[in-house]
Amino acid sequence: MTSQLATNVAAIEQRIAAAAARAGRDAAEVRLLPVSKTKPPADILAVRELGYRRFGENKVQEAQSKAEELADTDIEWAVIGHLQTNKARFVAQFASEFQALSSLKVAAELDKRLQAEGRRLEVLVQVNSSDEPQKYGLPPDEVLAFTRELSAFDALDVRGLMTLALFTDDQARIRACFEVMQQVQRELRDADGGGWDELSMGMSGDFELAIEHGATCVRVGQAIFGSRLDPNAYWPGAAPR
Ligand SMILES: *Cc1c(COP(=O)(O)O)cnc(C)c1O
Repeated sequence: MTSQLATNVAAIEQRIAAAAARAGRDAAEVRLLPVSKTKPPADILAVRELGYRRFGENKVQEAQSKAEELADTDIEWAVIGHLQTNKARFVAQFASEFQALSSLKVAAELDKRLQAEGRRLEVLVQVNSSDEPQKYGLPPDEVLAFTRELSAFDALDVRGLMTLALFTDDQARIRACFEVMQQVQRELRDADGGGWDELSMGMSGDFELAIEHGATCVRVGQAIFGSRLDPNAYWPGAAPR
């Protein structure tokens, strides 16, 4: 199992390097975030040994119980899934990063709880780049106004944007999502004279395309840890691409 994980990680690292090279980018600009949802702590520890310290989880409760189980390690947690206001206090306690901010209520609650804990949190704003009604994230044309409100929250270290592209084999439609993200990033940079460096986009099925479109964080689960035949999968019933 451990050596399979090492093989998988090495293969992803190579594909990241190749995609970066094709795009004329430095592969060091692209962070690989292993997404360990539904996978056991033993697998997380095996990938920690390969040099990865921060792991992505999409459910607060699962992330929190893994954080408790692995509390005596140096592992850090990125919460990458939708967060309800009433669970913000847990995230404030254990997470290093939250990639799915799209509500001012959640931002305010996180900030309050973080201040009380004496902690800070790296934050990405989630954008619904595919215009699917069932997806979380802000519509692209609401992102600028939303981000103007975030400066009120001192404990939030707002770094950039995150998205889930359309779940499809049609590369042109996936690219269109990533182009929307680059456009929103440009708009924010124009307004602020820079910043907004983080673009978290790309998963097992589309991370190479995302890198070609400027991704600085790719969130890869199944291509590292194996498929999730689990009702907790992000898209229940959907086959891995
Ligand atoms: C599960 C998940 C991923 C990783 O998906 P894979 O297809 O397993 O690579 C990335 N981002 C989010 C928000 C997820 O929930």
